Amino acid sequence: MSLGLSRRHEWVLQSEIRNMSIECDRVGGINLSQGVCDTEVPPDVRRGAQEAIDRGINTYTRYDGLAELRQAIAGKQQRFTGMNVDPDREIIVSAGATGALYCTCLALLDPGDEVIIFEPFYGYHISTLVATQAVPVYIPMSPPDWTFAEEALERAVTSRTKAILVNTPANPSGKIFSRTELEIIGQVAVKHDLFVFTDEIYEHFIYDGRKHIVPAMLSGMKERTVTISGLSKTFSITGWRIGYCLCDEKWAQTIGHFNDLIYVCAPAPLQMGVAAGLVNLGMDYYEGLSKAYGFKRDMICKALSDIGLTPFIPQGAYYVLADISRLPGMTCKEKAMFLLHQTGVASVPGDAFYNQTGGERLARFCFAKDDDILEDACMRLRMLC
Ligand code: PLP
Repeated sequence: MSLGLSRRHEWVLQSEIRNMSIECDRVGGINLSQGVCDTEVPPDVRRGAQEAIDRGINTYTRYDGLAELRQAIAGKQQRFTGMNVDPDREIIVSAGATGALYCTCLALLDPGDEVIIFEPFYGYHISTLVATQAVPVYIPMSPPDWTFAEEALERAVTSRTKAILVNTPANPSGKIFSRTELEIIGQVAVKHDLFVFTDEIYEHFIYDGRKHIVPAMLSGMKERTVTISGLSKTFSITGWRIGYCLCDEKWAQTIGHFNDLIYVCAPAPLQMGVAAGLVNLGMDYYEGLSKAYGFKRDMICKALSDIGLTPFIPQGAYYVLADISRLPGMTCKEKAMFLLHQTGVASVPGDAFYNQTGGERLARFCFAKDDDILEDACMRLRMLC
């Protein structure tokens, strides 16, 4: 034996997103690479957390979260989707959706279990699977609508498959899985007795009057689905680390035990801030969110179109993939770097969202920015013309 890093460390290498952010800072650019929203935190949410600190809610909470927050989450889920969740037995509050997925994988997957995932994917999903020694199996989605072949999904199932991971609305494609697509996924899950892990963190970022379909609500899906979401995006509180999963009590307790082991609990006063937001903010808040981000989406897509970087118009979430193949450079990273150095706008090279091939012509732009900053970014992009 000698001193050295674990073999596991190779699986969690610095992400391309972080690399682009570092280069963006170095050149003083506008960072459209990272999914960090710099829009305002709702006053109800801020006040709720501040009051909680003053009232002394600063100690460990129950491992699955404060009752106030679990009840608020159950209320919100019922209001928005009609889904009934028992706040005492079927909700685990965790350190963001990231923590909720990590604990879910630890609780429900064994080393070597395969998990089917749609490509392009969100890199943390892959890192989480690999760090918990599960094996991702990729199903390609094709632009412009990011459709997938039903046969490919059926073919991907082996005797080692344990789960299908669905991110809707999706990062980076902005795809909202349709009811038909989710029913196909559900049928495969039922036929082969698989779990479905969902990541619905962008559930309120939906455009053009589309609807977010909750996979757990489809026929035969309640028991086998772990619904994961969080408030990082909805309340612009990425640094607060509040997320959750909803699932059958058979799984919830063990997911909760891993949550206790790794995080102990999510930050207590911040749980109260989120609970206040969920209870006090009405439908107009969520509608306003969709409208405001729809405006941002249109702004960036127009700028990208104008300079010949054809965008694949997202249906939801707050990213857009665009075809950057016309830019000079051998790889998408060189092309994205060219764009950064010419215009001062940082994006993420498309291959960060693919296992092997598929992302070479693409870059992802995040439009969760204040309108002024986004306008500035669009103006800079147009310098490319
Ligand atoms: N899931 C997806 C699809 C994301 O894009 C992100 C952040 O970019 C997260 C989860 C992170 O969520 P949280 O901050 O709740 O951990």
